[in-house]
Amino acid sequence: MAIQIPSRQLFIDGEWREPVLKKRIPIINPASEEIVGDIPAATAEDVEIAVDAARRAFSRNGGKDWASTSGAFRAKFLRAIASAVLERKSELALLEVVDTGKPLVETASDMDGVASCFNYYAELAEALDAKQKAPISIPVQSFKSYVLKEPIGVIALITPWNYPLLMAAWKIAPALAAGCTAILKPSELASVTCLEFAEICRQVDIPPGVLNIVTGLGSEAGASLASHPHVDKISFTGSTATGIKIMTAAAQMVKPISLELGGKSPIIVFEDGDLNNAAEWTIYGCFKTNGQICSATSRLIVHESIAADFLVKLIDWSKNIKISDPLEDGCRLGAIISQGQYEKVMNFISTAKNEGATILYGGTRPQHLRKGFFIEPTIITDVSTSMQIWREEVFGPVLCVKTFSTENEAIELANDTDYGLGAAVISKDLERCERLTKALQAGTVWVNCSQPCFDQTAWGGNKRSGIGRELGEWGLDSYLSIKQVTHYISYEPWGWYSPPQSS
Ligand code: NAD
Repeated sequence: MAIQIPSRQLFIDGEWREPVLKKRIPIINPASEEIVGDIPAATAEDVEIAVDAARRAFSRNGGKDWASTSGAFRAKFLRAIASAVLERKSELALLEVVDTGKPLVETASDMDGVASCFNYYAELAEALDAKQKAPISIPVQSFKSYVLKEPIGVIALITPWNYPLLMAAWKIAPALAAGCTAILKPSELASVTCLEFAEICRQVDIPPGVLNIVTGLGSEAGASLASHPHVDKISFTGSTATGIKIMTAAAQMVKPISLELGGKSPIIVFEDGDLNNAAEWTIYGCFKTNGQICSATSRLIVHESIAADFLVKLIDWSKNIKISDPLEDGCRLGAIISQGQYEKVMNFISTAKNEGATILYGGTRPQHLRKGFFIEPTIITDVSTSMQIWREEVFGPVLCVKTFSTENEAIELANDTDYGLGAAVISKDLERCERLTKALQAGTVWVNCSQPCFDQTAWGGNKRSGIGRELGEWGLDSYLSIKQVTHYISYEPWGWYSPPQSS
C-alpha cells in the first residue's frame, strides 16, 4: 500500500512557513528503509519567529484572546481537536506507521489516546474556572487570601519519537487548557503526524500563534528553543542525556522544567501467580512498541522456584509474536525507528554476550525479513548486576532476567538502578503486592499488569527518570502558576510606625 506523505512547512503564527534557511530532513520508513518524504528543518532563525508568535498570542488583546479567557472557552478548541483527530484517525494512524515502523494496531490505539487526552483536558479546563479565587483559611481576621491559577506563559514542548503524536498531546492538551501558548518541537525521526496536527489546528481555528510546530534537529531547533530567553517553561520528554542538557540550559535563566526521561524498569514475578498471565504481561511490558517505551519493564526478576518453567513459557509466547511489515494484519512487532537505533540495540546484545550473558532467545534479525530495521524479541539470562544490559536503557525489544529467592532480595534487585520510572509486581498475594508497591522506587507501580496508562492518573519518574508529573490534574498544574492574593480588609490603620504629626 503506497501511503502519500503530505509535504508540509513549519507551522508558525497560524500559517505554514518555509524554514528561513530552506533546509529539509528526509523521512525514512523504518520497515522498508526507503525515503518516503521530508520534513522542514527549523534553525535558530525559525525558533526566534515561533517564540515571538507565541509571545504575541499570549498577550494579544491584554490576554483576552487566549491566556485570560475562561477555561470553558479554551475547552471548545480542545474538544474540536479531539473530534478532528478521530475523523482523521485512520489516515493519521497509517502515517504514524510509515514514519515509525510501529504496528498499525498500536498507532490506531495511539490516535484514540490522543483524542481522549484532548477531551479529558477539555473537562479539566472547564473545571478550572470554578477553582479560581479559592479562599485560603488564614488565622488573622483582618486579612483574606485566595489563590489564582494562571498560565505560566510561553512553553517549549520537546518530544521523542516513540509515540510521536501521543507524547505531543500529553503536553499540548494541558498547556492549552491552562491558557499557555506553545512551541512544539517533535523528534526529527518522527514528525509527520505532528505536522498533520498543525492542519487540524488550522481547521478548528485555534488563534494564530497559540500553538506553533517547529520540526528540526535537536541540536539546532531543540537547543535554541530550550535556551530561548522568552520561553517561560520547558516541558521535555526524551533521553536522560538530553534532559541533562535541557536542565543546564534552563538553569541559566532559572526557568521551570518538567522532565520525562528514560528508565530501566523491573517486573517482579512471584511463584504464586498464573504463569500464562504473568508471561503475557512480561512480554507485553517489554516487547510492545518494540521495547521503545520509556517505562518498558525490561528487567525480569523471577522467583527461582519457577524460573526454568517461566522462561520456557516466555519463549513460547515470544515465538507467537507476529513480526512483519507493520501494516500487515496481526503484526505485533514492527521495525525499530532508525538504523542508528537498530545498531545501538544490536550493540547492547553483543556487549551482553561479550560480558558473559546468554542470549536465550532472539538477538538477531528475523530470517524472513531482509529489509527494514527488524530485531527479534530477545531474552537474555546469566546476567550480573554490573553488566551494561542490567544497568542501561536499551530502548529495544530486549528483556534481561535475574532470579531471586526472598522478597527483600527482589526489592533490592528492583531498586538497583539510577532510574525510577515504572515497576511491576505479579503475585496473587495482594498484601505482598501492597508491601512491594511501597518499597519500589518508581513513579508508577503496576500490580498484576505492566504498561497500561490512563489520562486521569499521574505519569512521571523518580531519580534520573525525571522531574514532575504529566497527565491527570498534575499535568494541568504543571502549566499553571500559583498567584496568592492577600487583601487587608480592616479599616483600622496598620499601626506599625508612629504616624507623622501632620497626618
Ligand atoms: P532524545 O533525547 O534523543 O530526543 C528527544 C527530543 O529532544 C527530540 O525532539 C530531539 O530532537 C530533542 N533534542 C535532542 N537534543 C537536544 C538538545 N540539545 N536540546 C534540545 N532538544 C534536543 O530522545 P529520543 O531518542 O527521541 O527518545 C527516546 C528517549 O525518550 C528514551 O530515553 C525514553 O526513555 C525517553 N522517553 C521518556 C518518556 C517518559 O514519559 N518518561 C516517554 C517517551 C520517551
